[in-house]
Amino acid sequence: MKSEGLPIIISAPSGTGKTTTCKVLKKRMSNLKIATSHTTRKIREGEWDGVDYHFISKEEFESKKNKKEFLEWAQVHTEFYGTSLEAIAKHQQAGFDILLELDVQGVASLRNMDFKGIFILILPPSIEEMGNRLRKRGTETEESIERRLNTGKQEIKSYQKYDYVITNNEVEETVESILAIVRAEKSRVARYVPTSDDIKELLG
Ligand code: 5GP
Repeated sequence: MKSEGLPIIISAPSGTGKTTTCKVLKKRMSNLKIATSHTTRKIREGEWDGVDYHFISKEEFESKKNKKEFLEWAQVHTEFYGTSLEAIAKHQQAGFDILLELDVQGVASLRNMDFKGIFILILPPSIEEMGNRLRKRGTETEESIERRLNTGKQEIKSYQKYDYVITNNEVEETVESILAIVRAEKSRVARYVPTSDDIKELLG
C-alpha cells in the first residue's frame, strides 16, 4: 500500500538562492525526483542539458506546445519555459515526490487547474540582497539584472498564491523549513494511506 508521490512546487525570484536550495534538498530527500523543465534560453556555464533543463529551440518548444505535451508553460523574461506532463506522471505513479521549479505564471496555471501539491515561495531577505546576489553570480548583463529585479518584485507581490513562504537567510535553514513542511503535509489526514490490511479493514 503505497501513497502517490507529492508534487512540491517551488518558486523564487531570480537571485534568491533557489538553485542551491533545490540541490541541497535533493540530497536530503531520497524519494525526490526533479521534473526537469524545457527551456529556450541559452545554457549557462556549469549547467548540463537534460539535468538543469532540456535546452531546446523555439521551434521545438512551439511544436511541443502544439502537441499539448506541457502541463503548463510560460514566457519568463524573453524566453519560454515548460513542464512536460510526462516528467511528472511517470515519477508520481512510481511513488516519488516531485520537485517543480516554476515561476509565478506556472503557479497561477496550476492553481487554475486545481493541481494538487504544496506551493512554496522562497524570498530573499531584501530586494537589495537579491540585486547583490544577481551581480555576484556574474552571468547576466546589468540590463538583464534590472529586468530580473523587476520581475522578482512582481513575484513577491503574488505571495498569496502560495501555501508557504520562506525567507532564505541561509540555505541549511531554508532546506530544514521545506523538509518540515513536507513532513507535516504528508501527515495530513486527507493523505493518509493505511499501511496494512488490518488497519485498512478497520477504517472501511
Ligand atoms: P532561469 O532562467 O533563471 O533558470 O529561470 C527563470 C524562471 O523560470 C525561474 O523563476 C524559474 O523558476 C522559472 N521556470 C523554470 N522552469 C519553468 C517551467 O517549466 N515553467 C514555468 N512556468 N517556469 C519555469
